[in-house]
Amino acid sequence: MITVIDRAVLPTVRNPGLRAGAARYLQIYENFMRQVRATGIGVAPSEAEVSDQLAALRAQGATFRNDGKSLVSNFLSPACAACRQGHDSFTFFVSLKCHRSCFYCFNPNQEGFDHYTEALRDLPAELDELKRSGRPVRYLALTGGEPLLHPAEALAFFSQASQLFPDAHLRLYTTGDHLTPALVAALRDAGLDEIRFSIRMHDLADGHRHTFDRLALAKGIISTVMVEMPILPGTLSTMQAVLLDLDRLGVDGINLLELCYPRQHAQAFNQRDFAVRSQPYRVLYDYWYAGGLPIAGSESDCLALVAFARRQGLRLGVHYCSLENKHTGQIYQQNVGQKLPPTYVWSERDFFWKTIKAYAPDVHRVRRALRGQPLELRRAGDEDGVLELHPSQVAVLRAAGVEVELGLSSNVWEARPDGQYLRELRLDLVRPASFTLTDL
Ligand code: SF4
Repeated sequence: MITVIDRAVLPTVRNPGLRAGAARYLQIYENFMRQVRATGIGVAPSEAEVSDQLAALRAQGATFRNDGKSLVSNFLSPACAACRQGHDSFTFFVSLKCHRSCFYCFNPNQEGFDHYTEALRDLPAELDELKRSGRPVRYLALTGGEPLLHPAEALAFFSQASQLFPDAHLRLYTTGDHLTPALVAALRDAGLDEIRFSIRMHDLADGHRHTFDRLALAKGIISTVMVEMPILPGTLSTMQAVLLDLDRLGVDGINLLELCYPRQHAQAFNQRDFAVRSQPYRVLYDYWYAGGLPIAGSESDCLALVAFARRQGLRLGVHYCSLENKHTGQIYQQNVGQKLPPTYVWSERDFFWKTIKAYAPDVHRVRRALRGQPLELRRAGDEDGVLELHPSQVAVLRAAGVEVELGLSSNVWEARPDGQYLRELRLDLVRPASFTLTDL
């Protein structure tokens, strides 16, 4: 068992070193949340309880992936299956220009946003460079902005990608607003395997059905036709109707995204009574994915929609892709293949490197119980230092009846200009009597 150390648990931690270390990370998280509030957005008072929904989904036969960060009913795009580890997958954009102006759009968070709303990227050169790098390429995507504001460039991208990487799976993200019969046929001829449309909720509220017409246009021409959209809390019944419509149309699947606050347009979120989740990240970190911070209530509605699809027996694939699911690919990429001291283990669950820490005054007892085993004293020469041990060694402590509070440390490798650094991001509490390696 792993105990999350939050403000309620902290005073119950008796070991002073562990308590001080955990308090430091709580303080960092609280400072971060203060910065979030300063942008003008509300923060939910507590995390919504979704364990009953998850248990019901298990009973309904939904597929749990990535430690429950991704849930699937029926079809899952192969590109989504690969996304967990970010393996051999590359995404490009022509420009960040888009005609829709969704209030939740996170593109303004991207580096060079202003520049790339006008300028176009040199996609031919970028594809050539990827080819020259010799990296394995299995999935290539073109996104935006709206890529089909630049149809010639989009077609050229897929033609070139097909030639350079004939075995790669090619997909396009689009609003579909500019799709014509001729363009969809040209995209197919250029090698496009999958097209993903976004539906905007307030278009539905206004009775607009144009995206459904475009989906029907692509169906039967592009091999895989998908929808991908964030789920706004409180839109459950509207979305249930959308799922039924997509199923009738024979669409392959829909990715339900957790709605995120892109750290701007707070007013638009406040007007709708949307607030950021109280614990937006399981592990606080500077994630590449620019989506922002998850909105409370979106996850629960996504789970309810997967359950609805199961109950209705929809053929449509329904995939809930949480924000956490998008982050694991980054942590995997940073941590995979790194050589570490013998006291670390790789977690298949969240891809962080984990070690166990014993703190004074328990260091001596732990050291005695583990005599002859590999250990690392963090502050060399300091008998009262922090002792690192391999998580498997906790079993030795359990067998010896050593009752101590230990820190479970989660770490990520960072490449910095002056070298590689292993950075600790979080401390949780474990006890030898109740901790096993399968908890990681
Ligand atoms: S359609 Fe996509 S790219 Fe365009 S504004 Fe909306 S979220 Fe942004």
